[in-house]
Amino acid sequence: MSGDPAAVLLDLHQRISGCTVCPLARTRTHAVPGEGPHTARIMAVGEAPGEREDLTGRPFVGSAGQLLTRLLESVGLQRSDLYICNVLKCRPPGNRDPEPAEVDACAHFLDEQIALIRPDVILLLGRHAVARLLPGLPGISRLHGKRIVRGDRTYVPLYHPAAALYNAALLRTLEEDMRLVRGYLDEAEAERALAAAAAGAAEREAVAAAREQLTLF
Ligand code: SF4
Repeated sequence: MSGDPAAVLLDLHQRISGCTVCPLARTRTHAVPGEGPHTARIMAVGEAPGEREDLTGRPFVGSAGQLLTRLLESVGLQRSDLYICNVLKCRPPGNRDPEPAEVDACAHFLDEQIALIRPDVILLLGRHAVARLLPGLPGISRLHGKRIVRGDRTYVPLYHPAAALYNAALLRTLEEDMRLVRGYLDEAEAERALAAAAAGAAEREAVAAAREQLTLF
């Protein structure tokens, strides 16, 4: 992918906002492309916009979004640290489940977002996000809180915050899983620092070797 990443992301958001490829374009108020910095190290992927998201064009602005913000803050993260989006960019009428054909039609947008942002960790919020990005794996009740590596991507399935709004047991599970996420992020950060230090040492050695060669002539 070439060009200024911020401009590429903006262009992607504009293409999503103007998309009319599937029937959801006819019933939405606004498409909801996503929100957050292109430099985000964490990405959160939910299911689809709800009523408030549809009205505002922004992801996770309802009560589930407020809970997500509280959970992030409880482990020292800010919502603005994340890039947040959904599997589907337009609201299914009445918040019904996404249809497979709608998910297929919309899939390339999420793939483009992930390829552009290249986050250290992708939080999969709920079963639809898990089914889209980790197809064939067991249900979220067995996967939640686990770190799953596929290629160069790391995923952590979590219960959707909306499911924990009125379920104290699920909320406790989500809080515990969020602490695990914090640990995974700290490890990813430490690994990046080590890799940068190793690259710096290799560069210094190469420069020293080149200087030594020059002194021979
Ligand atoms: S849900 Fe996705 S594919 Fe369907 S109209 Fe919206 S952006 Fe386009």
